[in-house]
Amino acid sequence: MEIKAIRGFNDILPDEIGKWHFVEDTVRKVFEGFGFSELRIPILERTELFSRGIGEATDIVEKEMYTFTDKGGNSLTLRPEATASLARAYLEHQMYNFDPVAKVYFIGPMFRYERPQKGRYRQFYQIDAEVFGVSNPMVDAEVIVMLIQFLKKVGLEKLELQINSLGCRACRPAYREKLRAFFEKKSFQLCADCQRRLLSNPLRIFDCKVETCKEAIADAPQVTDSLCEECQKHFAKVKEYLGDSKLAYTLNPAMVRGLDYYTRTAFEVVSYDLGAQNAVAGGGRYDNLSQEIGNLDTPGIGFAIGMERLISLLPPGKTFVQYPRVFIAALGEETQRDAYRLLTQLHLEGIWAELDYEGKSLKSQMRRAGKLKAPYVLILGGDELKRGKAVLRDMEGKNQEEIPLADLLKTLKEKIS
Ligand SMILES: [Zn+2]
Ligand SMILES: [Zn+2]
Repeated sequence: MEIKAIRGFNDILPDEIGKWHFVEDTVRKVFEGFGFSELRIPILERTELFSRGIGEATDIVEKEMYTFTDKGGNSLTLRPEATASLARAYLEHQMYNFDPVAKVYFIGPMFRYERPQKGRYRQFYQIDAEVFGVSNPMVDAEVIVMLIQFLKKVGLEKLELQINSLGCRACRPAYREKLRAFFEKKSFQLCADCQRRLLSNPLRIFDCKVETCKEAIADAPQVTDSLCEECQKHFAKVKEYLGDSKLAYTLNPAMVRGLDYYTRTAFEVVSYDLGAQNAVAGGGRYDNLSQEIGNLDTPGIGFAIGMERLISLLPPGKTFVQYPRVFIAALGEETQRDAYRLLTQLHLEGIWAELDYEGKSLKSQMRRAGKLKAPYVLILGGDELKRGKAVLRDMEGKNQEEIPLADLLKTLKEKIS
């Protein structure tokens, strides 16, 4: 039986990888310019990191985690997101001892047992950035500015920044109760999931896509009307700093984000590139997370970008595929050896060259060079070779010239690199 990949797990093939490299290179360039350093986290963590960090009453923890017991009897989970792990690393390595402010980023695969559908996978990639140790709203604006700058640098143009404030431990419980009372009156309209959410976490009803639930949500009380004075001040400052950064935003009071750990600022970026509306990134502040998973009370804020979605939105027409710079067509067995020597010299110089391994006819070698889209073909053989020359054919300009064998490497390097 032929063995295939697991459903929801993908190969990223060589003709796709150029886009991934472009996005990853842009992450490093932009984020490091904002003072962020990479922090690489493991794929596996103790299950309780996520159940405590993300919250028991979330879809991720309730039904989407890849959890198993290892041979030592520990319950382990493939990371479903990066923030909890990055916060754990910040606490575990006491990074705050060096400087309370830590700005870190991460790129890598996450795992969620979701129903596979187009554009949604069980192993999917995220770009993550987090700042630990700052409660000043200045840093809320700073990470949002970085996010928008990054999205623009990869070529997204029609972006909408949506922001909201989710309140804090002081003001959210009262809002949650207000919301519960509101939805209880409408509970006949709610789906089975939302009936459950009504008891466990009524804020999560906002995330429901069921039509009757969406109708019930429409005139629900808004979190921003229930903020305590401190949260109001914080949110006002975030808006002020975004204004200072010349960033336009819209207020979206229904955006509550799916995870329990968010407090105060929440944001999402929606792209209208390629005609459709697509959420490309989201994040927020999580000032209580470190207390949930560690023994330090330190604030945090960050965001995640879905790589697959982002890559599907890259401007069309931009080509990321790499081609060999030259194809060496050799005629005859003896000449193959010269071709091999030249190939090695070019490779050692960092110039991608290809040759024919099968000893085929010139015609078929030219065909392969064309298929590989090599802009130049060097022909070794025939009368020219007897005269101590090789022929360099420019496949785009459709012209060719003779090059003395003695100057071959030097001339090739000038011409094609
Ligand atoms: Zn508050
Ligand atoms: Zn619902």
